[in-house]
Formats: sequence, C-alpha cells, structure tokens
Amino acid sequence: MNKKYIIAANWKMNKTIDESKIFIEKFNNLLLEIPTSKVIFCPPFLTLFYMNELLKNSPYDLGAQNLHWEESGAYTGEISATMLTSSGISHVIIGHSERRQLFGETDKNVNMKVQKALSSGLTPILCIGETLVDRKNNDTLTVLENQLNNGLENVAAGDLSKIIFAYEPIWAIGTGERAEPEQIDEAHKTVRNVIESIGVKENISILYGGSVKSSNVNELLNINEVDGFLIGGASLDAEEFVSIINQTETHIKKDN
Ligand code: PEP
Repeated sequence: MNKKYIIAANWKMNKTIDESKIFIEKFNNLLLEIPTSKVIFCPPFLTLFYMNELLKNSPYDLGAQNLHWEESGAYTGEISATMLTSSGISHVIIGHSERRQLFGETDKNVNMKVQKALSSGLTPILCIGETLVDRKNNDTLTVLENQLNNGLENVAAGDLSKIIFAYEPIWAIGTGERAEPEQIDEAHKTVRNVIESIGVKENISILYGGSVKSSNVNELLNINEVDGFLIGGASLDAEEFVSIINQTETHIKKDN
C-alpha cells in the first residue's frame, strides 16, 4: 500500500490575513493537481479562523500552533481546545522547540496539552528533538525517549495512532542545516520503538522537521522512516512549498 505522506506548514508568527490570502491564491494556482498527501496549514491564531473560510471545500487541513489544557477561565492570552474545534480546526502543534525553549513549556505541560487535544478530538502534532549539546554528548536518543515517555504519560495505547509525531532536531530548525539521513533514520527508529513499546505497532506517522526545502526534500523522501515533513521557513513561500509537495507526489508515483 502507498504511504500517505503528511506535509505540515508551520507559519509560526508570520503572515497577516492579507498575506495569507495572497499565499493561498498563489498556492492554488501553482498546484495543478490535488495532492494525495495530507497538507496541513498551521498559521497564527488570528489567521486560522480566516484561513478556514478561505480553504472551505478544499482538501487541506488546518492546525493551531498551541492550545491550553484547561477548558476555559482566567488564562489571559490562551486558546482552548473547544475554541479550536468549534472553529473547524482539526490539528494542533504541541511541544514545538520554540515553545519549550522560549516560553518555558515543560514535558508536563506538553503531556497535559496532548491529553486535552486527544479528548477534544484534535490531532496533536507532537514535536520532540534534541539540542546540539545533547547530540554532541551522545544524549540524543535518551532525550527523545524521555520527551516521548513524559509527553505520552497516561495516554491510552489506543490513542497513539491518533498522534502525528514530529522529530525536529533543534539545531536544524531555521538554520538551513538539515540532519543527515542516518541521523534521521536512527531518531525515527527510536521514536517508533518507544511508541511500539507502549503498545501500538501500526499507523504511526513520524514527520521530519528542520530546514526542509525544495532543494533537499528529494533526499529526505528516500529515508524509509520518514512519513512526511513539518516545515517552517520553506512553507512561507508558495513556490517552495508547492515544489516540496510536487516532489513528494512524484516520489509516491515512482514507488508505485
Ligand atoms: C519548524 O519550525 O518546525 C521548522 C522545522 O522550521 P524550519 O523548516 O524553518 O527549519
């Protein structure tokens, strides 16, 4: 059976509503065929609601970049799972390294967010990844195992296939320096082993993220362990993003 790739665009704190409109028009014009891959746009909160209108009747999904684990209340600046689902949002990025490093998000926070997303019917895109120091100290695999075991505490084995995992080495995010195929293969196998040890062997999707671009995606597609990509910088440019999708689609056809 063909692998169904997942290609998620993390726009971070980029693009106004007008800029998103221009992007989507360009994207639709450039992309000649509806991709078989699942494409998920994760714009900032304000644009999310507008993008939902813009992408109505399209095959593309929308994801938030964060959520709060409480249902409602005095949490200034936060967004609840119900606010997202009631606005037609299906996915949510959780534990992105920028949230962990810049906003002090802990594994415990990540775990509460994952549980809330799952119980609300949102698909978590759970990000994990090591720092350069971790890698230099040969701690990468232990860091990944700890982030996963802590982030997945009390998550039912049956819910694991509802999560999209994203391996994102922090040193490769936004640096233009992607990880080597062997490093990605090893990290993804570790992620898969942890999930399998909790009790699920099938339908596990593990994305790679970290300086994915149109010029390197072909090489990344040849890594069997990679089920898709979480893309920051290159997803802001419609031509770049469409090229990544097109190359993925060509790769799928070639595999047939
Ligand atoms: C990201 O922010 O998740 C990411 C992978 O960014 P970039 O593609 O720019 O490295």
